[in-house]
Amino acid sequence: MANPTPVSGTHRASRSLTTSERASGLVESVIREMTRLALQHGAVNLSQGFPDFPAPEELKQAAKQAIDADINQYAITWGAKNFRDALARKASRSLGWQVDPETEVTVCCGSTEAMFAALLSLLNPGDEVVIFEPFYENYGPDCALTGAVPRFVRLRPPDWRFSLEELEAAFNERTRAVILNTPNNPTGKVFTRDEMEAIAALCRKWETLAITDEIYEHILYEGSRHISIASLEGMRERTVTINSLSKTYSVTGWRVGWTIACRELTNSIRKVHDFLTVGAAAPLQEAGVTALALPENYYQGLAAGYAKRRDCLLSVLEECGFTCFRPWGAYYIMTDISRFGFPDDASFVQYLIQDVGVAAVPGSSFYSNPSDGRQQVRFTFCKKQETLDAAARRLRKLKTRRK
Ligand code: GLN
Repeated sequence: MANPTPVSGTHRASRSLTTSERASGLVESVIREMTRLALQHGAVNLSQGFPDFPAPEELKQAAKQAIDADINQYAITWGAKNFRDALARKASRSLGWQVDPETEVTVCCGSTEAMFAALLSLLNPGDEVVIFEPFYENYGPDCALTGAVPRFVRLRPPDWRFSLEELEAAFNERTRAVILNTPNNPTGKVFTRDEMEAIAALCRKWETLAITDEIYEHILYEGSRHISIASLEGMRERTVTINSLSKTYSVTGWRVGWTIACRELTNSIRKVHDFLTVGAAAPLQEAGVTALALPENYYQGLAAGYAKRRDCLLSVLEECGFTCFRPWGAYYIMTDISRFGFPDDASFVQYLIQDVGVAAVPGSSFYSNPSDGRQQVRFTFCKKQETLDAAARRLRKLKTRRK
């Protein structure tokens, strides 16, 4: 579009009518772009992490009943009372302290909004945020839109541990928050108690907030244990715990997430949330009450189902020549592709989608410096067995490509 004629009295003839400076720095999410490309090329989609199998029947019924019962108007902006009550009961059990549904819970439009509302409400431009890398790609734009400055701490394969010295060096008087995602996307790492204690000690030392994304808390393998940093000493007052219905109940399209944080932090989060979205879908919050009342064996079944899918995809990928980093939680497998001899992850994934017929996510999209992920690719296994079987048949073509 041509620049408009300046209005007399203004001196901003060169300003853009199409994009703000804030937006112009953003690029399309690579994960979501891969889903588009998969659809375009008819590839089996092992890129974006959403299940292709049905949500639990009880949840679908509960959502339909809520609409029939005319729960179709705004819920209270920070969440329907009965849903907050259910969330507070669950969080009290896992965090080990009494969560107050009236002052410490905020229901948002997915954990995506929860993270953004938390950063916008608790950080000032210029504040530093410690982020473990590779990281879920949204955290980058979240910081950019907030004006926060990310400080990356490297997780190194094969077990994705970090160096304590590097972590200590990332903290200083400008550090306002650390973003923690455990179980971790994309690596499948589940942070250990020792690691969490080390992070918590630095948060206490530097008066830093912990903003934790725990959406894969129930997807754990081989006895690995999920630890919420808010349950550790001195962390209750400085942690925002983020979670959602999406992954635990296989309803990623419902967009229902939440934050748990002390009253002061919650007050700020609620103000931003109110003006960002007003609130999450009322009937789906109602169905969330049903979700949270599912029996214990639901969660065991969820983890067992994913363990089977993980083992299936691990063996296919290894057979085809990938080096796989075995995940201990969440539903992704990070792989090393160097044996295929491609110059980078983007050209490999392009070949994978167009010639092999399987979509995955280029590793570079999880790194601040894309070249660090140049020989890595992420696959998800939150798919039906028949989808994984179809992917396996196609992936076997790769065997002839490996060096
Ligand atoms: N968390 C999922 C992933 O990493 C989906 C991300 C998204 O597109 N919201 O694939």
